[in-house]
Amino acid sequence: MNYTAETKPHAVLVPFPLQGHINPLFKLAELLHLRGFHVTFVHTDYNHKRYLKSRGPNALEGLPDFRFETIPDGLPPLDDDADGDVSQHIPSLCDSIRKNFLQPFRDLLHRLNQSATAGLIPPVTCLVSDCFMSFPIQAAQELAVPIILLSPISAGAFLCFMHFRTLVDTGIVPLKDESYLTNGYLDTTIVECIPGLQNFRMRDLPSFVKTADPNDFMLEYLIEVAGRVPTVSAVVFNTFVELERDAINALSSMLPYLYTIGPFPSFLDQSPNNHLASLCSNLWNEDPKCLEWLESQEPRSVVYVNFGSITVMSAEQLLEFAWGMTNSKKPFLWIIRPDLVIGGSVILSSEFVNETRDRSLIAGWCPQEQVLNHSSIGGFLTHCGWNSITESVCAGVPMLCWPFFADQPTNCRYVCNEWEIGIEMDNNVKREEVEKLVNELMVGEKGKKMREKTMELKKKAEEFTRPGGHSYINLDTVIKEVLLKQTSLD
Ligand code: UDP
Repeated sequence: MNYTAETKPHAVLVPFPLQGHINPLFKLAELLHLRGFHVTFVHTDYNHKRYLKSRGPNALEGLPDFRFETIPDGLPPLDDDADGDVSQHIPSLCDSIRKNFLQPFRDLLHRLNQSATAGLIPPVTCLVSDCFMSFPIQAAQELAVPIILLSPISAGAFLCFMHFRTLVDTGIVPLKDESYLTNGYLDTTIVECIPGLQNFRMRDLPSFVKTADPNDFMLEYLIEVAGRVPTVSAVVFNTFVELERDAINALSSMLPYLYTIGPFPSFLDQSPNNHLASLCSNLWNEDPKCLEWLESQEPRSVVYVNFGSITVMSAEQLLEFAWGMTNSKKPFLWIIRPDLVIGGSVILSSEFVNETRDRSLIAGWCPQEQVLNHSSIGGFLTHCGWNSITESVCAGVPMLCWPFFADQPTNCRYVCNEWEIGIEMDNNVKREEVEKLVNELMVGEKGKKMREKTMELKKKAEEFTRPGGHSYINLDTVIKEVLLKQTSLD
């Protein structure tokens, strides 16, 4: 598709302001830009500052037709962290999104359209929002432009989220009392009221329904947001049919305009002329030593350990991982975010450092996709965030799974039981199990089979996202039939 500056469609993209939501929306922004859209990408002031801090003052200059804008998040400054280099508290963000985001976003759209009247940029023609926020839906209705929602989570986890209301109405949620969290109930109960998730147990559902609190704020927020999803022009997913056929079919009957357009890493890898590749969306500073160090390691020898941007653990759990990695005798690259350990950072003992010095690197943040695609990586110990999983599949790397919360248990079920490209670790992590499973992953028979299966999925992902592939065609369709369509005020 080719447009002149005057006729370019102009998409405004607004992510939920957390790293794992920003990254997939940013990738979608790149894909739209490659198809000729003028793009405005909206950060909160807080994340904008973090981005500039980690990537330098010119990092968000962008290109003439790929611009960044900001809106305030309405939250008080964090006083316990002078650096402000941490993910914000999720319920507070949700509360503020509900109360404080619409007006500044309206004002921004107004400013953009004033610039368009002055002939500086094309007028706003469509919005793209994270599915966990409703205010852009209202803004799109007011502006009479189409809006699509991106699900940053799997179709399966999204399907659960669309059923949260049913789970409450049928009395399954909230749980009768706290004892149901630990008395085996979560392991044994198959959730039959969610067609499309065959044999999924309560335990495999997103963590938000595992509550005994009838007034749980997150559950209430998510039910409210889910109720507005069917009102939008379309919902798009960073997934492909091969991965989640049943869930996608079940969702299709609830949402007539659903498009699977992923996985994004393969899509972008196969997109020529991506001048935005250098514009990365990470909020933390990536340590360049990670890739340098990987260069010095043997092919497929390194275990990559990363728990994403939000997962936290106790100092005891960190030590179990540390000693499990040490005792496995395998080289490892471990990303320990400054806020990974509850209550502050942990100094690893000199014994650990001495034992692992020659075969490990610990860093605070890394360019994950490049790391996963490095030939030295043999396996990934992950918390099962959906981006991490799709990135691992696209790189052909099998996984060890330690899901923490949110959609991660659902993703873990897919990885370990449906696709058989990962092994789950007990939540109560023990060094012996870490040692055993790391060896199974890296040199065991099961690890070998998982690697083969991951490579098959990687190839499928490439087929789906290359020209003529299912996800590729879906993106073209959603652009033509939704984003480029004019809407009128009712
Ligand atoms: N990421 C990264 N470097 C790191 C850790 C994470 O680039 O050291 C990126 C990762 O590639 C992914 C995102 O941050 O795109 C994390 O998203 P995910 O859904 O995996 O987990 P979340 O952080 O939302 O729990």
